[in-house]
Amino acid sequence: MARPLTADIDLDALRHNYCLARDLAPHSRTLAVLKADAYGHGAVPCAHALSDLAPAFAVASIEEACVLREAGIKIPIVLLEGIFEACELEVVDTMDLWIVVHSDWQLEAQLAYRPRRPIPTWLKVDSGMHRLGFDPYRAEQIWARLAAAPEYATDLHLMSHFATADALDPSYFRHQLGVLNALAERLKAPICLANSPATLAWPEAHGAWNRPGVMLYGSNPLVGDNDATRRLAPVMTLRSEIIAVRDLAPGEPVGYAGRWKAPRPSRIGVVACGYGDGYDRHAVDGTPVLVNGQRTSIAGKVSMDMLTVDLTDIPEAGIGSPVVLWGRAADGTYLSVDDVASHCDTISYTLLTGVLPRVPRRYH
Ligand code: PLP
Repeated sequence: MARPLTADIDLDALRHNYCLARDLAPHSRTLAVLKADAYGHGAVPCAHALSDLAPAFAVASIEEACVLREAGIKIPIVLLEGIFEACELEVVDTMDLWIVVHSDWQLEAQLAYRPRRPIPTWLKVDSGMHRLGFDPYRAEQIWARLAAAPEYATDLHLMSHFATADALDPSYFRHQLGVLNALAERLKAPICLANSPATLAWPEAHGAWNRPGVMLYGSNPLVGDNDATRRLAPVMTLRSEIIAVRDLAPGEPVGYAGRWKAPRPSRIGVVACGYGDGYDRHAVDGTPVLVNGQRTSIAGKVSMDMLTVDLTDIPEAGIGSPVVLWGRAADGTYLSVDDVASHCDTISYTLLTGVLPRVPRRYH
């Protein structure tokens, strides 16, 4: 029998979440962010599942775009960070990709290149993230240069990225929105701004295009829930089984460094999933896990190939009992990846993208 660990991917849930994002912004076009192998879910199957719904996809590199093109994906693909070398413009041109331009060398390379077809271009402005993008005071002049080039003028957008759209305090979010809106008004430019938190919670940030990522995979990036986040469906279920059981006397330790000690006569279940599969080693005792659909928790440090859970209150659980590390159990009980992430001092993005290739993906 194979090692009982899989990442089950529910493509209907992915489509459901995409439709939710799209319907929240009826006046925008909503692309699907598929970078980092679709946040660990498998970019090719996810792209095929969404290609009749989404008008475009977005990825982080030309390599990621090529994987989709080679799999037969024909719809527009935006390179969110643009090119990394001038020679990539040739590939952009032949592969029919769209590009972001965020820096001077990219701009000059692009303006010097004569594509065979107009290339839709998104001019990235630094509205406050202070990561990528042109300073707003330079944007008008750069916009004018692109607008004067027939190859790039036909489909020109302004874009920016929010630093705090998921925060409770909206002040910095409003500042960034104000910077981009003021510029867009002066240039009469269509904008692309909204990530998942802005798609879910800030209709005023919905632009000509929105570009949600993590919400498509069922994770809620906001602090707390709203009507929309309550309708998200989990896409990945990380599923394993109990492969061994230990009875412990009070005070006996479990695992490396003996971090967890039995507070009472206890039963410990060993689960076939560890940090060598991408499960976060920072998971504290108390990190939730479902066994037989019942919520229990991690007891002891996560090992490379295994982790240990407290079965004391689930006496019927034993070897072969189903375990859900996050996602949906067979009886419908749900453990959100966001809940797990909060116990690992991280975010769902790192858990989802961190599931390693040795974990087989199964698509439904
Ligand atoms: N746009 C850009 C430029 C990004 O870097 C990302 C993700 O990191 C997204 C959109 C999607 O963000 P989210 O997954 O929060 O929706």
